[in-house]
Amino acid sequence: MSQRKFDFYIVPTPIGNIQDITLRAIETLKDVDIIACEDTRVTQKLLNHYDIKTKCISYHKYNEKERVNFFLKELKSGKRIALVSDAGTPMICDPGAVIVEELIQEGFSITALPGACAVTTFLSQIPRKSEEFIFTGFIPRSEKQIIETVQKHAGVNMVFYDSPERILKTLNIIKAARPESKIALARELSKLFEEVICDDISTVIKHFDDGIKGEIVCMIYADNNTQDAELEFKIKTLKAKGFKDKDIAIILSALFKLNKNDIYKKSVNM
Ligand code: SAM
Repeated sequence: MSQRKFDFYIVPTPIGNIQDITLRAIETLKDVDIIACEDTRVTQKLLNHYDIKTKCISYHKYNEKERVNFFLKELKSGKRIALVSDAGTPMICDPGAVIVEELIQEGFSITALPGACAVTTFLSQIPRKSEEFIFTGFIPRSEKQIIETVQKHAGVNMVFYDSPERILKTLNIIKAARPESKIALARELSKLFEEVICDDISTVIKHFDDGIKGEIVCMIYADNNTQDAELEFKIKTLKAKGFKDKDIAIILSALFKLNKNDIYKKSVNM
């Protein structure tokens, strides 16, 4: 099937299993003139596997700004470029934002291909009561910032990346701040030692008593008490403004995708 041609393609690559790449991604990487990649050695292994001969040029957070000028020149001369990162989807905790912003300003056509990403691979197998989540990227390192981040997002499922060297320290800090937390943690998604655990925070920490290896993505479940308190606060505020229970239920269910009848019952009983 013939595809519309773009100047710039954002192309996801596997997060572990080398087969997790789409046919369209392979075709695109073969078809463009240049592949901009974080580490040419990492990407070259993938290209060799799929017999892709396109030239690779490094583009990473340390040369992002200077490379943009080079890529702009190439695009203006009619070349087409694909951006990949070492693993997963570019611009999800990976470089790309600087060049994409510049290309939009310059009026180049850009598209992103769907594909592998640790956040979506994780979330698509974790039981959740609500669709709502917040992704913080890599969780901060200091105790103070970890606690602030967790408190700020207490009412919503909070997904984050962390390194295997830090994750147990991070979980212990969270446990001290919110001992009742429920956690979902995945390591090595799509790889040989893939493991997903979903339990209260003490059990998860105990499970990894001997240490934890591999790449990690983690979620702290929303604290239901905080969610309830936030909802009650919203109902009270609307009641104080003279809204009727029925209208409060309509407004809050529409704005926050909550069950209308549940809100109505809560509002009536307050
Ligand atoms: N762009 C990537 C994506 O689409 O997920 C993320 C890049 S970020 C630099 C790397 C982090 O993603 C790792 O430290 C880990 O937290 C997470 N990650 C990447 N691959 C993973 C995997 N196979 N299993 C679990 N987490 C993974």
